[in-house]
Amino acid sequence: MSYKAELVGVLGCPVAENPTGVMQEAGFAAVGLNWRYLTIEVPPEGLEWAMRGVRVFGMRGINLTIPHKVAVIQHLDDVALEARMIGAVNTVRREGSRLIGENTDGKGFLRGVRADAGVDPAGKRVVVLGAGGAARAVATELALAGAAELTIVNRGVERGEAMVSDLIRGTGARASFAPWLGTWRVAQETDLLVNATSIGLYPAVDAMPDVDLSAARESLLVCDAVFNPPETGLVRMAKARGLRTLDGLSMLVYQGVIGFEMWTGVKAPEAVMKQALRDAFKL
Ligand code: NDP
Repeated sequence: MSYKAELVGVLGCPVAENPTGVMQEAGFAAVGLNWRYLTIEVPPEGLEWAMRGVRVFGMRGINLTIPHKVAVIQHLDDVALEARMIGAVNTVRREGSRLIGENTDGKGFLRGVRADAGVDPAGKRVVVLGAGGAARAVATELALAGAAELTIVNRGVERGEAMVSDLIRGTGARASFAPWLGTWRVAQETDLLVNATSIGLYPAVDAMPDVDLSAARESLLVCDAVFNPPETGLVRMAKARGLRTLDGLSMLVYQGVIGFEMWTGVKAPEAVMKQALRDAFKL
């Protein structure tokens, strides 16, 4: 009999409202693993010590959220190619005594597009709103999955242009930048629209990305990375126009599913993890 639990968790600041632990612990329980997922608040100046803690506690992995996704890189032994292209790490896994940085945000998004929306991004024309960490992850994975064309729309010009040049250099994608001046009119040719900004995130739930969907084709898939609330203003607007939508819970579940499998080597109980999140959001 061993009373020793295996430890994983998330480091962030603030982190109390991060629901990942709910789905991971539900997943561990469902497959009979004696694992714990700890939600730990670490201020920026404490990250180095926290990462030493991850090592000495023998933690099996860790998630990183705001503000640690970039800063953590200097405390790792290696970083996977996609995470290097994205420039951020949201998941760390252990290989013996080495800590390896990964990014499962974009992979999670992609899995949701395929599994929940039934869309293959290969050959699709994509518009990504935003140029922060989530946008970089989503755009990089869409490019690697063969998207035909990516347009990055962002308020801040410098950040948007830097993201596009990294995207082209890293993936060879056909990508361009468009500054977000006034309303972004979604063109008839667009197949996939992704809000990867924080517009609409709780508590500013009435905020909406300034987009016009009136010219959109019937088959446009409208995706939101914002998961709190799951039904954002953008998702509501798209549904009202009869368009297909994918909410941020899909990306959240699958990034967790991928992390679960990286850490444990066990197939993740996706339905259990999804339901645990839906329960947490009282859906
Ligand atoms: P960042 O802070 O790195 O980036 C924020 C982005 O939003 C920037 O492009 C910023 O533009 C833009 N933005 C913010 N406010 C406005 C505004 N009022 N008008 C126009 N643009 C705006 O955040 P992240 O990329 O880490 O996260 C973005 C969102 O994605 C968050 O809501 C987060 O919760 C969500 N997310 C969801 C995940 C999931 O699993 N579903 C995983 C990871 C993130 P600018 O450059 O001009 O400032």
